[in-house]
Amino acid sequence: MNTTEKTLQNYYFDLEAKHGAHNYKPLPVVLERGSGVFLWDVNGKKYYDFLSAYSAVNQGHCHPKIISVLNEQSNKLTLTSRAFYNNILGGYEKFLTDLFSYDKCLPMNSGVEAGETAVKLARKWGYEKKGIKKNAAKIIFPEGNFWGRTLAAISSSTDPTSYNGFGPYMPGYEIIPYNNLNALENKLSDPNCAAFMFEPIQGEAGVIVPKEGYLEQVRNLCTKFNVLMIADEIQTGIGRTGKMLATDYENARPDILVLGKALSGGVLPVSAVLSDDPIMLCLNPGEHGSTFGGNPLSAAVSTEALKVVIDENLALNAKNLGDIFREEMNLYITHSKIVKLVRGKGLLNAIVINDSPESDTAWKICLKLRDNGLLAKPTHGNIIRFAPPLVISEEQLYDCVKIIIKTLKKFESND
Ligand code: PLP
Repeated sequence: MNTTEKTLQNYYFDLEAKHGAHNYKPLPVVLERGSGVFLWDVNGKKYYDFLSAYSAVNQGHCHPKIISVLNEQSNKLTLTSRAFYNNILGGYEKFLTDLFSYDKCLPMNSGVEAGETAVKLARKWGYEKKGIKKNAAKIIFPEGNFWGRTLAAISSSTDPTSYNGFGPYMPGYEIIPYNNLNALENKLSDPNCAAFMFEPIQGEAGVIVPKEGYLEQVRNLCTKFNVLMIADEIQTGIGRTGKMLATDYENARPDILVLGKALSGGVLPVSAVLSDDPIMLCLNPGEHGSTFGGNPLSAAVSTEALKVVIDENLALNAKNLGDIFREEMNLYITHSKIVKLVRGKGLLNAIVINDSPESDTAWKICLKLRDNGLLAKPTHGNIIRFAPPLVISEEQLYDCVKIIIKTLKKFESND
């Protein structure tokens, strides 16, 4: 990078540092354009995107079909609030519920709002249908859960960085270990238990994949104890793990399904909660809502974003290319000192660096990956998530594997 390029980049770093809250520590790169699997920085350097905005851009950056619908609808009608009907929402709700086979959906905006909606819905169901005493409902979460940054969400967090300094916390939550059916069974037998809310693969925790059969057993236990199974598929859903939903891998249909991120192809904040009538109709007019939730612009964009996933067979592509990715990485790590482990499903993968979570090795690797034309971000210090847009081709994936291995090798030899 020459001096002019550095100056331009620093201008943007300084602008954010001076005027923005310091609640993020971005990788030092300033992006200005995206198309498919690629991003370009302000100096015109091209990168493979291996984060996909935390799996929100499954359809690739600025997918022409989604952007075309965005443009068309934005010239007609963007927001009416739910005080009135609009001519797009009903069709979207039908499309979404047909696609995922639920009676009803409740559209929101961010992922955390959808998670909170699910919790509220489960509590209401607990009081009205299960007969739990007023204000006694419990929601069970696994350790390592992540569903956003509101007070309700951080109250279930086991990560001190998320919750420290923000108390008091929301009552009515209980925590059990992830991937532990005995612990789950013990909790679910409590008659005040309304729901178990969990991710089928824990994304932010570092792509933690539970043992085979876990999802189905969760389903069975929830049914046995009349407790709602809430699957947070905000990161795992919409093709990311090789099927439309990660819960599709087993006989594990959730009672409440929570979607977000790629629901709009990364174009707008769109989230949704899906459920059947006996649960969803526990909510009555005035009891829940959002000014922007279900707006015609989001509804039109989200419909198109889902059509792209189906028409372009993105879930299957994620499955096939994910298999190749892990195979290649596993071959490499058999003789690696720097990488301990590769894990994941479909195109939601991570490598675990052979260093403590407090070390900065993963961060340094991500800086080198950036220099070599690939953007990824560490999570929990020593884990690097690899989640490219699902439109990536086999040739591009092999190219990326080459970049990743070349970069890692540099660290092996630096040891
Ligand atoms: N749930 C899961 C599984 C997530 O990974 C995230 C965000 O990373 C959320 C919920 C929160 O989504 P949002 O950041 O859109 O509020």
